[in-house]
Amino acid sequence: MKTNKAYIKLTEKFSADNYLPLPVVLTRGKGVWVWDVEGKKYLDMLSAYSALNQGHCHPRIVKALNNQAKKITLTSRAFHNEQMGLFLKKLCTLTGYEKALPMNSGAEAVETAIKVARKWGYYKKRVKKNHAEIIVCENNFHGRTTTIVGFSSESQYKNGFGPFAPGFKMIPYNSPQALKRTINENTVGFLVEPIQGEGGVIIPDKGYLKECYNICKKNKVLFIADEIQTGLGRAGRLFACEYENVRPDITIIGKALSGGFYPVSAILCDDHVMDVLHPGDHGSTFGGNPLASTIGIAALEVIVKEKLAQRAYELGNWFMKELRKIKSPSIKDVRGKGLLIGVELTKKARKYCEQLMKQGILVKETHEMVVRFAPPLVIQKRELKWALTRIKKVISS
Ligand SMILES: *Cc1c(COP(=O)(O)O)cnc(C)c1O
Repeated sequence: MKTNKAYIKLTEKFSADNYLPLPVVLTRGKGVWVWDVEGKKYLDMLSAYSALNQGHCHPRIVKALNNQAKKITLTSRAFHNEQMGLFLKKLCTLTGYEKALPMNSGAEAVETAIKVARKWGYYKKRVKKNHAEIIVCENNFHGRTTTIVGFSSESQYKNGFGPFAPGFKMIPYNSPQALKRTINENTVGFLVEPIQGEGGVIIPDKGYLKECYNICKKNKVLFIADEIQTGLGRAGRLFACEYENVRPDITIIGKALSGGFYPVSAILCDDHVMDVLHPGDHGSTFGGNPLASTIGIAALEVIVKEKLAQRAYELGNWFMKELRKIKSPSIKDVRGKGLLIGVELTKKARKYCEQLMKQGILVKETHEMVVRFAPPLVIQKRELKWALTRIKKVISS
């Protein structure tokens, strides 16, 4: 059994049908490159939705993982482990927050932020019991739990999965006026992506985040940024909110926090928010485990040592400029920040992704008409040039 086809057939026989992957079976990855089971090499320009900012199998993270895997991997939070404190210290020092709460998947970190915001609302803002409201944006993506899909505007994410948790209000993205109008005495938080990644790489107007932040401040509402995809260097800064000098009350991170090795997520906030949690209020069997923590430390070290945010900023600007030079009636828009770039097409993007795969480039459409280019941030300019010639060819054909 050596072919892509054979593995796909096997997988489809036993797997739930909840994904439609491109027909390629990957077996090895190194930096920005991956290989399929037939030996064909591809440039990974998806980076597992930005979980692989550090590139595939980064040697520094492999080493950390191997060393720790031989020592101890899981203690549960019933006991302390020596790595978690070191990890959280590193995270807080790097990001300038007083506290961090480690979880596993991104969705779990979003759920954690929701719980903390609500409890903060009841205990610090004195919102009436069970009346807390969180404002979210249309076209959002925050994960797949029942609570989270309940406040999605994407019908497919919700259909068949109700009933949903109450306590969320939806407003249009990119409208501070709508936020102002919708906030009331029960509002505890405003949950927003600084750039809507899954939503099609949607970039709000300049000043949007700052204005929303100020509105939140004025009304005693927590500004909660979901930086799971945009953060940790992807958008050309450590956090995309930095472009507007916004320091969210809660920042949610995941994905690249482990460099693609392991699900590691966290929320970051200051003590006056985090101190609503007491022993027993919230937890996770695997959250903050020693293996995840050492991986997290190494993943953060790579982001800093290899200046990944700066690389994303410089290479992203250059790459976007080059993409804009492609003259084709199929291109409607090229937009992005750092190395989170969306090319909006006039036709369905899936076909282009299939063609790019044949050319040795792996990307995925997002929201039907948009191809997202988000390679690992360790990519070299010559590799981007290599990609450009192929992208040009496919889009012009
Ligand atoms: C990927 C993503 C999530 C969910 O993360 P999972 O690890 O898949 O649960 C949440 N928010 C944003 C913005 C994301 O990109």
